[in-house]
Amino acid sequence: MADVSVADLVRWLRRFDELVAEHRAELTELDSAIGDADHGTNLTRGTAAVAAALAADPAETIDALMRAAGMTLVSTVGGASGPLYGTLLLRIGAAAGTVTTLDAAGMGVALQAGRDGVVARGGAAPGDKTMVDALDPAVAAWISAAREGRAPSACAAAASSAAAAGRDATVPLVARKGRASYLGERSAGHADPGAASTALLFEALRSALAEAPEP
Ligand code: ADP
Ligand code: MG
Repeated sequence: MADVSVADLVRWLRRFDELVAEHRAELTELDSAIGDADHGTNLTRGTAAVAAALAADPAETIDALMRAAGMTLVSTVGGASGPLYGTLLLRIGAAAGTVTTLDAAGMGVALQAGRDGVVARGGAAPGDKTMVDALDPAVAAWISAAREGRAPSACAAAASSAAAAGRDATVPLVARKGRASYLGERSAGHADPGAASTALLFEALRSALAEAPEP
């Protein structure tokens, strides 16, 4: 049962950039329905900057990697989602510490710290129709799979399914946080853009950990 390595997390962030670029129009369309039509653009700018920074300066520890990526997101994404995604990665790194690998339980602790950071920073609870609606169940699913003794790849598959279900469950909700909350009842009927991008983040993690490590 392979631990999660720095190289795995680099693959995660690269894969996230690819998925965000592929789904850019869809994220912007969701944000045009209940926001200001910039989520796809905002996030693509940030994940591309992260991918470029990774290529220029490969980090040696999980803390250094996630700190660099988180700072890059904070400074490039903008909007409400930039500081929230940045906080998520920074907290994951800080909780992991200056290590080069994490086992499934350790990665669960780091993800939980990231989730708690997003909630502390944005003040959204599950059900408020935000990225927390995908993040919270994804992290819970990782932790519960890790407690059952599953490998990181299986934990990531469970987290990715839970994030997608969380995204889908935002459709009927009325937004209580962020720009979409200005629409009141009219925010119901569309998935939350941040929940949709968070589902991509966990799909990227699933995909990165499912890949066979380089020989
Ligand atoms: P902006 O709303 O500033 O245009 P984006 O369009 O990039 O920023 O991101 C919008 C997403 O950010 C929302 O769909 C939601 O998921 C997330 N979001 C906004 N405010 C909060 C908050 N307070 N807590 C958690 N997530 C939030
Ligand atoms: Mg927006």
